Amino acid sequence: GNINVAIDGPAGAGKSTVARKVAEALEYVYIDTGAMYRAVSWYMIRNDILPEHVEEVEHHVKNLVIDLVPDAGGQKVYCNGEDVTTVIRSLEVTNVVSLYASIESVRTHLVQNQRQMALRKGVVMDGRDIGTTVLPDAEVKIFMTASVQERALRRFKELGDSFDITLEQLEKDIANRDKLDEEREISPLRCSEDAIVLDTTHMSIPEVVETIAAYCRA
Ligand code: C5P
Repeated sequence: GNINVAIDGPAGAGKSTVARKVAEALEYVYIDTGAMYRAVSWYMIRNDILPEHVEEVEHHVKNLVIDLVPDAGGQKVYCNGEDVTTVIRSLEVTNVVSLYASIESVRTHLVQNQRQMALRKGVVMDGRDIGTTVLPDAEVKIFMTASVQERALRRFKELGDSFDITLEQLEKDIANRDKLDEEREISPLRCSEDAIVLDTTHMSIPEVVETIAAYCRA
């Protein structure tokens, strides 16, 4: 592939599922930047470093090595060599990730890594600031949205019975995360001016994947 694809949007819009399938269809490399912010947050939680201790966060994040390794089901995530693929999806991480993601040193470190990964082109990268900040020259930019009710419902179905959380609580958590992501000072969640907006509230996953893949082939 000789183009890069940026997919941004709020929490639970289905970006990662869609981005992974688009990458598969085009034989591109999928990069889940949310997983990187989650891995940083998991590491800070485990080492008792609170998000308000900005200097301590900065000191630690500089030496963190986060690797995304493609595998059959999607990708494995490693933090300093440790497999954190599953633990970064916990509610404990989900509920604080936006706090760590608003810290300048965290963003600087991760954005640098993300740009490095996209140098050779042929990547589908999903996140909140890909089209606006990480890859402003991406050839295809998509902004995926869906109503907050629909996004909460999708997440609810995805989590299944093993999670002890109500649909109402999920909707609140998602709305809260969107607000923090939209209102932070450094590269907030924004639709890039030159992005194609896809409201997926009434679209199926294959429909969304095919729509984006068609833009990429054009
Ligand atoms: O996409 P996901 O829900 O895994 O992202 C988790 C969090 O990471 C987001 O709510 C946001 O705070 C942060 N994030 C970000 N910039 C990105 C990707 C994710 O700030 N490019």
